[in-house]
Amino acid sequence: MTVNDDYAMTIDGKAVLSEKVIKVINPANGKIFAEAPDCSAEQLDEAVTAAQSAFRNWRDTPIKERQAMVRKAGDLLIEHAAELSRLFTREQGRPVDAAAMEIQGAGTWMHAVAEMTPPVHVSADTETEFVETRYVPLGVICAIAPWNFPVNLAMWKVAPALVAGNTMVLKPSPFTPLCTLKIGQLLNGIFPPGVFNVISGGDDLGPMMTSHPGFAKISFTGSTATGKRVMQSASKGLKRLTLELGGNDAAIVMPDVDLDEVAAKIFFGAFFNTSQICVATKRLYVHEIIYEDLRDRLAAIAEATRVGDGTEQGTALGPIQNQRQYERVLDLMKDARDTELTMIQGSAVPKNGGYFIPITIVDNPPEDSRVVQEEAFGPILPMLKFSDIDDVIERANNSDYGLAGAIWSKDTDKAMEIARRIETGTVWINQNLMLRPDTAFGGHKQSGFGVENGMDGLLEYMAPQAVYLAR
Ligand code: NAD
Repeated sequence: MTVNDDYAMTIDGKAVLSEKVIKVINPANGKIFAEAPDCSAEQLDEAVTAAQSAFRNWRDTPIKERQAMVRKAGDLLIEHAAELSRLFTREQGRPVDAAAMEIQGAGTWMHAVAEMTPPVHVSADTETEFVETRYVPLGVICAIAPWNFPVNLAMWKVAPALVAGNTMVLKPSPFTPLCTLKIGQLLNGIFPPGVFNVISGGDDLGPMMTSHPGFAKISFTGSTATGKRVMQSASKGLKRLTLELGGNDAAIVMPDVDLDEVAAKIFFGAFFNTSQICVATKRLYVHEIIYEDLRDRLAAIAEATRVGDGTEQGTALGPIQNQRQYERVLDLMKDARDTELTMIQGSAVPKNGGYFIPITIVDNPPEDSRVVQEEAFGPILPMLKFSDIDDVIERANNSDYGLAGAIWSKDTDKAMEIARRIETGTVWINQNLMLRPDTAFGGHKQSGFGVENGMDGLLEYMAPQAVYLAR
């Protein structure tokens, strides 16, 4: 097996291979099925230099033209979603239909971002002076993406950064580089050479990028632990930063809900993408009056949900994406077993070397157990009882994370009031996992800072510039 041109990097408008390679594993069977380039330090330099020189023209390209190109990029993603989705499933694990939805969704997201134009604020316009504040691009963006939504979360960076007039070097996770490399090549015909570069590599490449002096800003999505390293590295060059990090999201289920209506939605919010979602429900607080009823319904759904190879018909949930994460989740399960917590498991999973874990509900564990306190990022959901609303809000907020949360109740006024007391960047009421391209998304506390999406997200890729004109 050799690196084929299909999985080349895109540097300065050219398809580029490298001397070394990284291996890509199909998580549904644990076997290597492809190789991707392992970008060298020299190749990183080339990508940054190309992006720096492309910046000069791209910055001065009228925004309407930049928007049109980003819109076209969205078209191409939508056009190629079905074809890319099979590759997505092989590298990421998620079933094919849901994989196609992510790629298509990334395309429509790009369309929405392509409609955005940064504002200009005029603060004085008199006979003697004119003062305006406009927004200017920053330079070359270092974009680093995770493996759980590899296409979507990368395009959340690409679209606003390029509309804003920056150029970019994007690095996917070493676990899921292939679709992103393909997209680099696909979009290559649209953007001028050097505007959008895609490189891939192993664990060394991220730190090499964040310490590279040629970047003006780092936009990072990944774990809180890595985010801290990125911040430390960025501080040397005082690079601008957006950090979208981990979460341990709480959902609060009030006693007045209609369980027939909400059980499946709550299940989806906790287990979609095999729970590998930064904003998945990771702690489920349920009022004691309905606790057993909801628990039994969730257990029944878990039993009826097929976990397996995402390329097979009927599979609802795929494997854990990589061995490292698989072992992390297994370790949490072991801890739950060792501390004699009650675990309810769903349907059996394949035993074929793939990274499969059965859907697991932990029945009312102590608040201080590891499965409650840590971000599992896998299908092991602690379900906890509450009786008092002030107490449960305190428990929900008692976390270093502050990404998102959900409240389930028929009393929406009351739910809005509870939402105001939840210390997270996003709060859902009677729904979950819903995000919009025109609405800011970001974490509080150690879930990160800066935001993506919405006008706020676009302006993260720009700096205000005040112009004072004496008349
Ligand atoms: P990770 O932090 O291990 O890796 C993320 C990316 O950082 C990868 O591309 C990796 O190669 C790179 N990287 C690793 N070490 C680096 C370093 N020292 N310097 C620079 N880059 C480095 O995260 P992951 O396991 O890929 O993703 C899962 C985590 O991401 C979870 O914690 C999840 O909650 C979080 N996440 C957050 C959001 C959000 O928007 N807030 C979205 C998705 C995932």
